[in-house]
Amino acid sequence: MNHRNAAPGRTFDIAVIGAGVVGSALAREFTRRGASVALLDARGDVGDVTSKANTAILHTGFDAKPGTLESTLVARGYDLLSDYAARAGIPTEPTGALLVAWNEDEYAALPGLAEQAAANGYRHTRMVGADELRRREPHLGPGALGAMEVPDEGIVCPWTTTLAFATEAVRQGATLLLETTVTGVDTAGEDIVLRTGRGDVRARQVVNAAGLASDAVHRMFGHGGFTVTPRRGQLIVFDKLARSLVDHVLLPVPTKMGKGVLVAPTVYGNVLLGPTAEDLDDPTATGTTEEGLAMLREKGARILPALRDEEVTTIYAGLRAATEHGDYQISFHPEQGYVCVGGIRSTGLTSSLAVAEYVAGVMAEKMGLRPAPETASEPPAMPYIGQAGPRPSADPACVARDPAYGEVVCFCERVSRGEIRDALAGDIPATTAEGLRRRTRAGMGRCQGFFCGAAVRRMLEDGAGTPVPAEVAR
Ligand SMILES: Cc1cc2nc3c(=O)[nH]c(=O)nc-3n(C[C@H](O)[C@H](O)[C@H](O)COP(=O)(O)OP(=O)(O)OC[C@H]3O[C@@H](n4cnc5c(N)ncnc54)[C@H](O)[C@@H]3O)c2cc1C
Repeated sequence: MNHRNAAPGRTFDIAVIGAGVVGSALAREFTRRGASVALLDARGDVGDVTSKANTAILHTGFDAKPGTLESTLVARGYDLLSDYAARAGIPTEPTGALLVAWNEDEYAALPGLAEQAAANGYRHTRMVGADELRRREPHLGPGALGAMEVPDEGIVCPWTTTLAFATEAVRQGATLLLETTVTGVDTAGEDIVLRTGRGDVRARQVVNAAGLASDAVHRMFGHGGFTVTPRRGQLIVFDKLARSLVDHVLLPVPTKMGKGVLVAPTVYGNVLLGPTAEDLDDPTATGTTEEGLAMLREKGARILPALRDEEVTTIYAGLRAATEHGDYQISFHPEQGYVCVGGIRSTGLTSSLAVAEYVAGVMAEKMGLRPAPETASEPPAMPYIGQAGPRPSADPACVARDPAYGEVVCFCERVSRGEIRDALAGDIPATTAEGLRRRTRAGMGRCQGFFCGAAVRRMLEDGAGTPVPAEVAR
């Protein structure tokens, strides 16, 4: 399937700029409502910028700023994504979170945070004393005075989430245009013309979900009012042997710079430490730094001292689309046929479905979009890549059906040839080793592809060599 050729001569009802988790959720919602949609992204894959590099917490929204749109959409997004994930097979784990107080000031702040949670409509917080805390998290460092439990926080697979939304959108008729960077817009005619390196894309309406570039795209439409300052978050992923050290997401008491450094299990069976919060100028600065990692190591050793001795599997960094405002930057410009869905900073994975529901609702009211259908959509059945459930190679019925699922290629992550083959032939096929990793976990284990790299690359090259239709425009 070729997701790169622009669609000359065609006018879409809606063009969505940005195929991150938010743009993909929007495209899914618009196609559900019968709109013809072009989903454009500068990168070669969906979810290839901030949506692939976050902390992957399914937030309840307990600590959002009450009264903000973000607070409403995170809470709603939590419910929507929890339900969708269960139906689509997106890995999630209901770990719960413990917000740990390490000094008297932090301890004194906990009741205020419980009140804030209640103001956000979340009433399940509970205070946990030092003894109970130690019983439930025996590897916690010395000095923890107590915690606030947030039992409904969880963890989710960010990669399958974006891929599921985009897959559903494509199955519902969206045209996915990858490696298609919007460089300018022409709003003079009846349709909006998006100038891209692959030719013009015409649409009656345009929705800007360009993440870190959402302010730049907003300016193309003649608007200002916010500037994105990329806020980098560096993270360390520890080996699966560290997984037994922690049961909950261990959160710090938040500061005004953000949620702070946490330790969390991942749905892939690892342990995550991070993120940092560094304001930068460069929207491509996704490298890690010695100082950032040293700071994380120091904080991690305080939270969970045994982490010091655990092997690091990988490190990465993502950039939040932070702005000077304390809320998402969503605005509607019906006179132009333009909507901005920008500044979706540190909670957009959780809120994505609610952002799409909200935006589509307002567009139905003001911009002629059809209402949502009465019946719930049927999400695609996504290949399960979590650690909590069985992978195909461990499922005798699966292997009996197709022996390729029994041929393990990546031994660290137990990924079979059948799964890699499927990812290369999916609705949105993997075209790079990284894309394959996000769809199957191949190469993301302890050896980081040292043993399986050559075999995976060979399959990738063979897969890439299969002929594809000239254009995908359903
Ligand atoms: C360190 C970190 C931790 C986080 N932790 C969590 C968490 O635990 N839970 C949670 O819910 N959220 C979390 N988030 C936030 C979440 O990851 C983001 O809110 C979400 O991914 C934003 O999605 P998006 O689609 O708006 O942006 P992106 O994923 O950045 O997508 C925007 C897309 O637009 C494309 N684009 C940009 N300009 C153009 C152009 N001119 N033409 C074509 N395409 C263009 C880009 O290529 C990109 O793919 C975290 C973020 C970070 C960085």
